[in-house]
Amino acid sequence: MPELPEVEHAARTLRAWLAGAPIARARAAPTRIFRSGGRALFERRLAGARLERVDRRGKMLLLSFEGGVGLLCHLGMTGKWVRREGSGPVPPHSRARLELAGGAVLHYCDPRLFGRIEVHVGLDLLTLPSVRALGPDPLVDGIDPSALRDRLSRTGRAVKVALMDQAVIAGAGNIYATEALWHARIHPARPASSIRRGDAVRIARGLEASFAAALATPVEEIAYLSEGRGVDNPFLVYDRAGEPCPRCRRTIEKTTIGGRTSAFCPRCQRAP
Ligand SMILES: [Zn+2]
Repeated sequence: MPELPEVEHAARTLRAWLAGAPIARARAAPTRIFRSGGRALFERRLAGARLERVDRRGKMLLLSFEGGVGLLCHLGMTGKWVRREGSGPVPPHSRARLELAGGAVLHYCDPRLFGRIEVHVGLDLLTLPSVRALGPDPLVDGIDPSALRDRLSRTGRAVKVALMDQAVIAGAGNIYATEALWHARIHPARPASSIRRGDAVRIARGLEASFAAALATPVEEIAYLSEGRGVDNPFLVYDRAGEPCPRCRRTIEKTTIGGRTSAFCPRCQRAP
């Protein structure tokens, strides 16, 4: 599932792809990616639109076009944007497409259809309730450890589950919560309410380190899980149960927390 670094890569790519030419035509298949009326709005309002800017908040892509048309796109579990020349073959699972005046076509591809596309007219996408409900974005707002500790202290959930809550911090999911807690030497099942300021400082540093490493990694590698291709695992502990901890060499174990598999080092990350 795309998390902050993958979505940031998508934002940068879409910014470059849409910078040159306006959209000549927009087409979409009838799928659940669009809520009621969204597909008709997509086809009607994006024709002729010229990009103003691309923002990202957490895992949400926010494309603003001149004339007050906005596109919110959440990639869900398997969504991605793919660029093809107009005459080229249509990529698999293309659900919607933007045909650019220059001839290129941007396809929104999503095999499992958990993604979401919304078209909004006449408002600033950053003011949408779903965007305002997000916690701070680590790249846009930074991570303030005291504020993070305050938000974590309000819940008895496992700290890993709390870190995946987009209202606590926007952009982390299973991968980066796992990586950050390994950096911070905190067991993923520890109650979030037990996190002290020093722990929050280490979690903030851990998130920053994991995001920075991913943003410096070629996108084909960080997308290895969703692509299912034979690319090496670029992560330190995520999906590495049975392998040695990169810090202490103890064998990494896995457990299930909040329904998700969590890898951790039993020596570096002591059970609560
Ligand atoms: Zn270790």
